[in-house]
Amino acid sequence: MRYSVTHVVTSSHPGTSARRLPRRRSGLHPRRRLAAHDAHRGREARRSLTDDDLPHLVRHGLAAGRPDDPRVGDRRGSDAGRRARHHHPVRHRGRGPLHRPGAPRQRALRPHRRARPRPDASLPPLPARPLAGGADRDPRRRDRERPGLGRDPRRRRRTDGALAHPRGPRLRVLRADDGRRRDRPGGPRHGVRPPGHRVADAVSRRITPGLAGIPTEVDVVVVGLGITGAGVALDAVTRGLSVLAVDAHDLAFGTSRWSSKLVHGGLRYLAQGQLAIAHESAVERGILMEVTAPHLTRPLPMLTPVNDAMSRGRTAMTWAGLHAGDVLRRTAHTTTRTLPRPRRLNATETLNLAPALRADTLRGGLLAWDGQLEDDARLVVTVARTAASYGADVRTRARVTGATGNRVELRDELSGATYAVRAGAVVNATGVWAGDLDDQVRLRPSRGTHLVLRGAVLPHTRVAVMVPIPGTTARFAMVLPQPDGTIYVGLTDEPVTGPVPDVPVPSEVEIDFLLGVVASAFTTPPTRADVVGAFAGLRPLLEVTGADATADLSRRHAILTSTTGVTTVVGGKLTTYRRMAEDTLDVVLAQGRLAAGPCRTASLPLLGAASAEELRRCAAPARLVRRFGTEAELVLATAREVTGLADDDLLTPASDDVPVTLAELVFALTHEGAHDLDDLLDRRTRVGLVAADRVVAEPLGRRALELVATGSQPITLG
Ligand SMILES: Cc1cc2nc3c(=O)[nH]c(=O)nc-3n(C[C@H](O)[C@H](O)[C@H](O)COP(=O)(O)OP(=O)(O)OC[C@H]3O[C@@H](n4cnc5c(N)ncnc54)[C@H](O)[C@@H]3O)c2cc1C
Repeated sequence: MRYSVTHVVTSSHPGTSARRLPRRRSGLHPRRRLAAHDAHRGREARRSLTDDDLPHLVRHGLAAGRPDDPRVGDRRGSDAGRRARHHHPVRHRGRGPLHRPGAPRQRALRPHRRARPRPDASLPPLPARPLAGGADRDPRRRDRERPGLGRDPRRRRRTDGALAHPRGPRLRVLRADDGRRRDRPGGPRHGVRPPGHRVADAVSRRITPGLAGIPTEVDVVVVGLGITGAGVALDAVTRGLSVLAVDAHDLAFGTSRWSSKLVHGGLRYLAQGQLAIAHESAVERGILMEVTAPHLTRPLPMLTPVNDAMSRGRTAMTWAGLHAGDVLRRTAHTTTRTLPRPRRLNATETLNLAPALRADTLRGGLLAWDGQLEDDARLVVTVARTAASYGADVRTRARVTGATGNRVELRDELSGATYAVRAGAVVNATGVWAGDLDDQVRLRPSRGTHLVLRGAVLPHTRVAVMVPIPGTTARFAMVLPQPDGTIYVGLTDEPVTGPVPDVPVPSEVEIDFLLGVVASAFTTPPTRADVVGAFAGLRPLLEVTGADATADLSRRHAILTSTTGVTTVVGGKLTTYRRMAEDTLDVVLAQGRLAAGPCRTASLPLLGAASAEELRRCAAPARLVRRFGTEAELVLATAREVTGLADDDLLTPASDDVPVTLAELVFALTHEGAHDLDDLLDRRTRVGLVAADRVVAEPLGRRALELVATGSQPITLG
């Protein structure tokens, strides 16, 4: 094999992320405890699970803590958590009367009590986002107004002047207009950059379609802007390297927009006895949910109904798995406020959470919690924008046609112009297309399909429902309620041969299969007529000699360096993108051609990130806050400025069923590199997942294109 696998990453390296994260207690010994749980696993469970199946072993949680969440009431103050627990319909079972079974959970949204990764002190201090209605207030006054903070003698002033609190840092909010591009007179140099920043031209820090004006030399070229490439770009630029990151189509054009949108821990690896990599997944889940992207993630309750389809053995095994998953959560130091502990439910409690379930065979339920993304493509866009805000040059419609370790050839897909760029390193992050760029990489893709249903098909389903797949002992189909009111049903695992399509298409067999599996669980099962959309994604599985099943490879990430010097990163998952990027840059830097600082991304909030408390204070509409965090106000302000329209025009949804607004479409064009209608409807928003909704939203998309084209932005109508 001509290819030298320099670095196949199957588990955490000793002393990397786990060691860097602050430890709260030392009472848990992951290896010893997990080994005990692992003994429950049968051979079949080890083999048959794909990572996407994981939810069957862990999860659950009524989404809470979101600014538009009706359960986020005005309970604040020091005893809010205690009061909230008394209202939980399940937690106090057996310790007193159930209070309003099935009632929405009232969660107190307090700053986390435990120490968490701190924003990197070596990064320049960023202005805190102004409070709604209080643009010129002193941010320190806000601290004084927070209950208890002013009296805490342990508070201290950090070297950067910000006030640190022993309960953990307040997230620093990054804004698009934070000046972050480094001064580099004389072009790029390979090496560590001085930390100085200047306020740069805002437009140059936006994501741009096409290649006009790109540099002829950079430290790192990143090819592909799915979650992997976006993560690599962010890691590299925040280490001080100059970065050009390109995608042949658009941000999140590939697999990254076809996922189950889950942020999940590492149960599959646990089931396979790979404790280190399981731990890594759980750690990355915690970082995403608590530090880097709390605005784009939420806890998702995962309910496994215990009915005729669940034998006693399967129920016991699933319950043991849920507990093992909770041990993972604890070893990753993710709080129970973020992901509560699993618990057993009786039949009444189970039906309260999912009234559409068949009651006649129901004996109870198993409830666990995992993470859910607002939207996978939005995570990619946010990571890419964050990279751009630190100075990465991020380009869409920019295809790499040839690459070696120190040079790429590119074609501008808009103008047809070709370019050559010299680089200190070239990272191939093209997912299932990795073999096209470097024929030494061999992949065996596998297709995963989801169906899209309207929420009304399974009314009042507020939790994900795990339905056992007949004939298996450890595989489940998932019914996943989405923040936009739709429900996804997934997921299949079909090997794919032949050329890799740009957009994979679900097969009729897969659609029938998924409908058939979930039918058994519900009183009125969804039918073919209820399927308003379906989508499929290809898992980029690395071909490894001797591997007997694609599922065995599905979520490992691998970093390979070809004889030409190109570094390829494949596999992994959305959840672990940050760690994949860190490992990739570590490999690149170990080659000795570039020098850079340490990885900073574990403590680097993405644009718009803020605590739930801060998000609640945002003056923007709930949908915008959900999708942009604290940047929601910038989204609205930009739309006002560019279009001159009133908020009524900018914020009215396309229809009752289609919540997309003109404001976010305009922002997609001005700040997020969207270029045409497809970018707007299929990736910056996901309205394209339901064909009928896409038709409804098209006029709004066209209007956004026209409005921005008549403004001063260099946008081309698509
Ligand atoms: C069905 C399914 C469900 C999943 N569910 C989850 C989940 O719930 N949670 C989770 O954590 N993970 C999940 N995953 C895994 C996760 O989605 C993938 O691992 C991840 O999205 C892969 O991202 P990527 O950036 O490596 O590849 P991609 O997203 O495919 O990105 C590759 C990019 O490279 C670009 N490109 C290709 N060739 C070129 C070129 N020559 N020049 C420039 N650009 C190029 C493409 O346009 C594309 O945008 C799921 C995967 C599948 C298939």
